[in-house]
Amino acid sequence: MQTSNLTKQYGRHRAVDDVNMHIKKGAIYGFIGRNGAGKTTCLKMISGLSTPSYGEIEMFGYKGKDLQKVRSRVGCLIEAPGLYGNMSAYDNLNIKCKLTGIKKKGYIEELLKTVGLDTVGEKKTKHYSLGMKQRLGIALALVGEPDLLILDEPINGLDPQGIVEVRETIQKLAKERGMTICISSHILEELSKLATDYGIIHNGCLVQELTREELMKKCSERIELTLDNPKQAIPVLDDMGFNSYQVIDKEHIHIFERLGESASLNMELAKAGIPVKGISITSEELENYFLRLTGGDNRA
Ligand code: ATP
Repeated sequence: MQTSNLTKQYGRHRAVDDVNMHIKKGAIYGFIGRNGAGKTTCLKMISGLSTPSYGEIEMFGYKGKDLQKVRSRVGCLIEAPGLYGNMSAYDNLNIKCKLTGIKKKGYIEELLKTVGLDTVGEKKTKHYSLGMKQRLGIALALVGEPDLLILDEPINGLDPQGIVEVRETIQKLAKERGMTICISSHILEELSKLATDYGIIHNGCLVQELTREELMKKCSERIELTLDNPKQAIPVLDDMGFNSYQVIDKEHIHIFERLGESASLNMELAKAGIPVKGISITSEELENYFLRLTGGDNRA
């Protein structure tokens, strides 16, 4: 699934501004942004619940008017799930199955098992915990075996136990069904145990897309070297046998191994006539990284 220049304009306000998002098949894509960043608006357009003001969505090789042909391959849970409170989970799912024309025997039981609600019996959903409601919402989104599942803030407001349950359900879906999943949150840390890829949205703009490995590297423990010309230091690093390092910009190199050798590294660089302006060992917490990228130190 990918979007090109996806834009949503509400009057003078651009809720989503020129977003180019790429979700690979089989990925768990963490869509991160503060409250009001534009996540829901973006996901609604991708799910077909709202029309873009500008730009294009492509999924399963279809785009433009042809998107209609593949809309049924997308399941979504956006905002709170619409449940019939006086009915059981089974009956809620039964209604959705009837509307979708699914009559397969044992289908609902299987769905309930997938989201861990197979033992709730006849309990009315109005008496469910928030986590149970969210999991039933996920089950409803799964009716019809979607290839792409879109979940908007499914963890929001859950207690720690609820978070674990929803997280495990999502992991199971990705693993057992090979489903592509896009899940939004305003807390990067929350998705760090789950997502394989990340898109970070701020003020309607997608400020960065990165893989889990790239994110972990950005936030991992490292030696940070500050130099006038990082390129000059590379032969010294190579001679010393460093393999895992990255030139970050015109002044910085990050080294992700042998953190105890910063003193000898400093010495070798000095011997080679390369002045070191700064050397330190740091790591950045995921949440700090997100806050730095979205230009602030407090969450909205
Ligand atoms: P949250 O987690 O708070 O829902 P979000 O990242 O999902 O945040 P959106 O709900 O997409 O953000 O909202 C993005 C911006 O668009 C906000 O400034 C919001 O006020 C505005 N917005 C959303 N829907 C509408 C609408 N129907 N009409 C006018 N403005 C809207």
